[in-house]
Amino acid sequence: MGDFFRKVVKNYINGEWVESKSTNIEPVYNPATGEVIANVPLSTAEELNHAVKVADAAFQEWKEVPVPRRARIMFKYQQLLVEHWDELAKLITIENGKNFTEAHGEVLRGIECVEFAAGAPTLMMGEQLPSIATGLESGVYRYPIGVIGGITPFNFPMMVPCWMFPMALATGNTFVLKPSERTPLLANRLAELVEEAGFPKGVFNIVHGAHNVVNGILDHEKIAAISFVGSQPVAEYVYKRGTDNLKRVQALAGAKNHSIVLSDANIDNAATQILNAAFGSAGERCMACAVVAVEDSIADEFIEALVQKANDIQIGNGLDEGVFLGPVIRDAHKERTLQYIEKGEEEGATLIRDGRLDEAAKENGYFVGPTIFDNVTCEMKIWEDEIFAPVLSISRVKNLEEAVELANKSRFANGACIFTKDGGSVRTFRETIDAGMLGVNIGVPAPMAFFPFSGWKDSFYGDLHANGKDGLNFYTRKKVLTGRWV
Ligand code: NAD
Repeated sequence: MGDFFRKVVKNYINGEWVESKSTNIEPVYNPATGEVIANVPLSTAEELNHAVKVADAAFQEWKEVPVPRRARIMFKYQQLLVEHWDELAKLITIENGKNFTEAHGEVLRGIECVEFAAGAPTLMMGEQLPSIATGLESGVYRYPIGVIGGITPFNFPMMVPCWMFPMALATGNTFVLKPSERTPLLANRLAELVEEAGFPKGVFNIVHGAHNVVNGILDHEKIAAISFVGSQPVAEYVYKRGTDNLKRVQALAGAKNHSIVLSDANIDNAATQILNAAFGSAGERCMACAVVAVEDSIADEFIEALVQKANDIQIGNGLDEGVFLGPVIRDAHKERTLQYIEKGEEEGATLIRDGRLDEAAKENGYFVGPTIFDNVTCEMKIWEDEIFAPVLSISRVKNLEEAVELANKSRFANGACIFTKDGGSVRTFRETIDAGMLGVNIGVPAPMAFFPFSGWKDSFYGDLHANGKDGLNFYTRKKVLTGRWV
């Protein structure tokens, strides 16, 4: 992997690795050590325009390639990702900070998307009705839409791009990816493997940068559709500007996910699952558990189990054996998290585990230990805002109804979980909670690639979600033929 850490990461355009002419360069850090591991260019408008032009030219040929042949290249890509699994996971840990086991899991989530996309021949089949009237028939045919722009966040450098480009490519589109400027390295490795798999030049391109490149994607007349994943304000902006330019846009946004623990729950399981969901990936998951509403009668017992488990968490560099909690992504993000912890205290929540006091929090990397607040109310900022760090809020409630009412006050509605043994409670929860992805006795109910990633409210802007048949429909358009054979 040594030579992979190029001084300034290159763009990948038309099957060539090209140096950006931009003089605007940002450092890329290993968040576990604070070391600069690469530099990323904020590419110019000309570079983006060139990539889109190339992708548009490639589209004219790629869309004509028979679907099974496109699928075969996708199978080869899957094979290469499997062969390079450990290496990809290591790279994720180095640039993102999550522990190696979690990074390994992220690679699997990416591979699953590629596997789903390799089913394109079946997925792209249309529907026919041989007789809509006497001697008259109708059928639906599915086609790609053109050049897709993909804009991705730092927290899943592999999985999130894989939500997008495998399905887009398998269905015959071409792609321009703008990865997070904080985690650009894994994206380039994905592109090297794209090349090795045999995708033609220009079908998949990468232009590194930040908001200017995003604006270029949003405004470019040759970009047909935009897949965005990132924070709420940017998702809303991307959705508004993209649709204003009459593009198809799906924008997956921020979250503040709630878990409900009822008095009949298996407390040990609930504490273990919630611990993983709140502090795994340093809380930097759009499906992280951020708030727990626990029934009064078992609150003390549950909190004791949770704090005990949190005390056992090993904090450090995610490449080290046994480490569970890695750093947050940047120093500024650590500072912002510490401000939220202070804010929580000011607001009157009870700080029952203070992650500022963990030894690792004094090291060079951007570490914050597991932090837990009790007696949090929905008027508090720590309840309302997405902190995106290992900070968990607990609210004590009378019953399920109060818990659901509380959770539904959030503007976000990505995921929600319930811990109970009672089927009736699960049904009430399912029918009344405002959230798109639900879990029962599990902490992170992230759907697999063949189901849609289904956030609601301010956690999603658009109609068709990422993945599953939604993903297929987002990247394709249909023709309906009605005919009489005379
Ligand atoms: P971010 O919004 O800062 O960045 C996402 C992308 O948008 C990056 O490529 C970035 O360069 C670009 N960007 C940032 N600011 C911009 C601006 N002002 N104008 C135009 N483009 C801009 O998000 P992040 O911090 O990288 O990722 C974390 C966020 O992503 C969290 O809020 C998390 O919940 C969310 N997320 C959501 C999902 C989901 O499925 N809903 C999945 C993963 C992450």
